[in-house]
Amino acid sequence: MMLALDHVSKRYVTGGLTQQALDDVSLGFRNSEFVSILGPSGSGKTTMLNIIGGLDRYDSGDLIIDGVSTKRYRDADWDAYRNHTIGFVFQSYNLIGHQTVLANVELALTIGGVSRGERREKAMTALAKVGLAGQEHKKPNQMSGGQMQRVAIARALVNDPAILLADEPTGALDTATGIQIMELLREVSKDRLVIMVTHNPELAERYSTRIVRLADGHVVDDTMPFDATAVAIAGSTGDATGVGVPGLRKPRRGLRPGRVGMSWATSLSLSFANLSTKKARTVLTSFAGSIGIIGIASILALSSGVNTYIADLQRDTMSSYPITINSQSVDMTSLMGSMMGGTTAGGATEAKKADADRTKAHVDYSDIEQSEAAANAVKTNDLTEFKRYLDDPDSDIRQYLGDNGIVYSYDVPFSVLADDPDGNVINTETDVAELTGDDTGSVATSAMGATGANGMMSGGMGGLAGGAAGLGSTAAGTGSSDSSGSSDASSEESQASNFSQMTPGPDGEAVSDLTRDSYELLSGSWVKQSGDVMLVLDENNALPAGTLLQLGLISADEYTAAADAIADGKDAETIDWNVDDLVGRTFTLVSASDRYQDNGDGTFTYLADGDDNWDELRSRGITLTVSGVIRPADDAQNATISTAVAYTSQLTDQLIVHADGSAVVTTQEASPDTNVLTGTAFADEIDDATDDDIEQAYDDNLAAFGKVSYDAPSSISIYADGFDDKEAIADCITAYNQGKDEDRQITYTDYVALMTSSVTTIVNVISTVLIAFVAVSLIVSCIMIGIITRISVLERTKEIGVLRALGASRRNISQVFNAETAIIGLCAGLLGVGVTALLTIPANAVVGRLLGAGSLTVALPVRYAAVLVAISVIITMLGGLLPARKAAKQDPVIALRAE
Ligand code: ADP
Ligand code: MG
Repeated sequence: MMLALDHVSKRYVTGGLTQQALDDVSLGFRNSEFVSILGPSGSGKTTMLNIIGGLDRYDSGDLIIDGVSTKRYRDADWDAYRNHTIGFVFQSYNLIGHQTVLANVELALTIGGVSRGERREKAMTALAKVGLAGQEHKKPNQMSGGQMQRVAIARALVNDPAILLADEPTGALDTATGIQIMELLREVSKDRLVIMVTHNPELAERYSTRIVRLADGHVVDDTMPFDATAVAIAGSTGDATGVGVPGLRKPRRGLRPGRVGMSWATSLSLSFANLSTKKARTVLTSFAGSIGIIGIASILALSSGVNTYIADLQRDTMSSYPITINSQSVDMTSLMGSMMGGTTAGGATEAKKADADRTKAHVDYSDIEQSEAAANAVKTNDLTEFKRYLDDPDSDIRQYLGDNGIVYSYDVPFSVLADDPDGNVINTETDVAELTGDDTGSVATSAMGATGANGMMSGGMGGLAGGAAGLGSTAAGTGSSDSSGSSDASSEESQASNFSQMTPGPDGEAVSDLTRDSYELLSGSWVKQSGDVMLVLDENNALPAGTLLQLGLISADEYTAAADAIADGKDAETIDWNVDDLVGRTFTLVSASDRYQDNGDGTFTYLADGDDNWDELRSRGITLTVSGVIRPADDAQNATISTAVAYTSQLTDQLIVHADGSAVVTTQEASPDTNVLTGTAFADEIDDATDDDIEQAYDDNLAAFGKVSYDAPSSISIYADGFDDKEAIADCITAYNQGKDEDRQITYTDYVALMTSSVTTIVNVISTVLIAFVAVSLIVSCIMIGIITRISVLERTKEIGVLRALGASRRNISQVFNAETAIIGLCAGLLGVGVTALLTIPANAVVGRLLGAGSLTVALPVRYAAVLVAISVIITMLGGLLPARKAAKQDPVIALRAE
């Protein structure tokens, strides 16, 4: 390998001071000789060696390698040159302390990406050559200075470089050892160029073949000059081989040796070796880094446990708590909104009042506005149309229905008779004023006036009031039946009604779980058969006096006495019952159709309440028995039964069937044009009757007789098996509403969402907040890792210099440090996840004790664990990135000078 310095100059500028380290140095070297460089300290010897070795760059001139200028060398070329062509030996050995002798010797090959087996073989050969066979597994600090320098020489020779550069290799050794090293170098110089810097002229004279003296950056003496200029010129004209030039050996490698490549595995093993020499620090660093991971992992484990718990809960409740749609519902939000608006308006009015012209009187419309708002808040759902959609097998919604499917409820008209404490029969729908105002027996008769003002008409029958004008008393005695679970319009009519149907459960259950869970059973049992009813008390176990009067639980006298006492400002006498005594009380239900007496001539007569008819009505009725007494459960949000007595959907079904088969309904249906109550054609009863009028009258009659169409439910409960299905159902309803007039849209109540979504939201919000806090600890650990990597970089500065001298590229260097931080990050992540996994064991024991075994399991999902480990690696690497880059940018010359 022909080598020549051609007018090379190098100056260092530090601060304002310029130091001319090399000044126009031209030197040629033979392929095989032992050159000693002598000169006083600071004369530029090391600088020259570093420039020859490609570790430092010349300012001007040229370094000719193999007859080719290096002016256009790029970093990668220099790296490859150092790795393949140059071997460095330093005064202070510069072995890497955490690596074995073997690993140190292998280093140049390791950086070059040579396979393990080949590395080992070449390293063993090199060690044998320097007389250290069998010592390969020692660590450098287990060797003497001479031995260490031999290791350094073996390391320099392992790649069989064409040039060996030694900077004062014996400077730190005693004379005897120094001589051994010199002999070794002389041996080595037989088949390569050895350039050695030394302070010792005697050793130089004795061992080297040529001595070059430097002073102040100039070559002042050369015992055996070699003119390489001609070759250099030849090289620059294209003859790069140097073949035929005397004294030059044919180059063993191509002009630009292949690029240096170091695999990630190599970087990892280098860093692993380094870290394993600093086990305590690595463990501590990993532990510190893992704290953030433990924090996040614990929160995730807990929140995913809670969320799983809630999801399970939802799945359980989902199948029992439906989406419920009532024929009428109150839009509470819009109502509240309008009330608030009203208040604001009121405030504005007041403000106006103050400013108002005192000479004028104003009209205040707020009463109209508020009643309008209240009216608007009541939403009527067209359940007939919606049921058609639900029943259509092609409807999207059907695929999301749960096992429990859809449950329809219906309003059926009936009346209920009760015995009051005085032994009188009363209709439980009779107005309180009527009950107390006169002898109860006679009041009942007159109560049947067709005014409708006595509140006997249910919300569902409201349409009859107008349409039935010509039908007289047919409207009488219809029991109200608010669908349960509803927030139905609290119209005046329904206030008087004391009976409502409970929302049935799926599969023919009389009571839905929603209702069952919302009430506390005080006595008796829940309804079992169609004739069973529940007595529903309020939160204070009480019922209004009027209601009790209507139900026959207190007498008219008791009521009047209490009313008089209160009017006199006294306390009314306390009346109470043992709840157990209320169980078993009976009422008599008379269905609407049974109120009509068949006259035998195709006409029917209404049997009004009263002494004449009580016995007959009772004989036709069904006995209702109070099977249990309930009151709203604590904190129950869905305790929505709005009447004192609640009956089963089985009763409703029974009444529908009963009405369908009744004489009055079948007769009316058989002659749609004739009013069976009068035997006259509808056309003749209504002035200027249109077909619509006649049909309306017919429909009104059938409704009054208790005929209920299955097409027109009063409420629909849709069950889903899972949360996603329920969401999909909600979406289907939204899609159904899309593009429809507002009055044909469906509004519904989603009780499950009401109950659980807030909990899920809270859990998620809390987790997010906690994770945000813990993320701070991750940032802290990121910074900490950065600092530790920085320290590691400082500690390993020399090693960086050595690695660079051996041909490692900048990228290799940063790769080594990134590998180190990756290992730390991995340890931290695994430690964090592992510790969390261990923590879940006692956590589950505690949770199990608090909430019952198996209810809530705290567990870190594997995918979260994997993500957290990845995050730990990434964050740690981020922390080490800047120091690693700084390490990579470090000038190898300065790095080597570092102590
Ligand atoms: P020698 O090895 O002969 O003792 P050097 O080659 O190390 O000398 O240094 C030659 C001159 O260049 C000295 O004056 C030294 O102070 C200066 N020098 C060497 N390296 C640097 C540097 N990195 N920065 C500034 N000055 C330097
Ligand atoms: Mg020096």
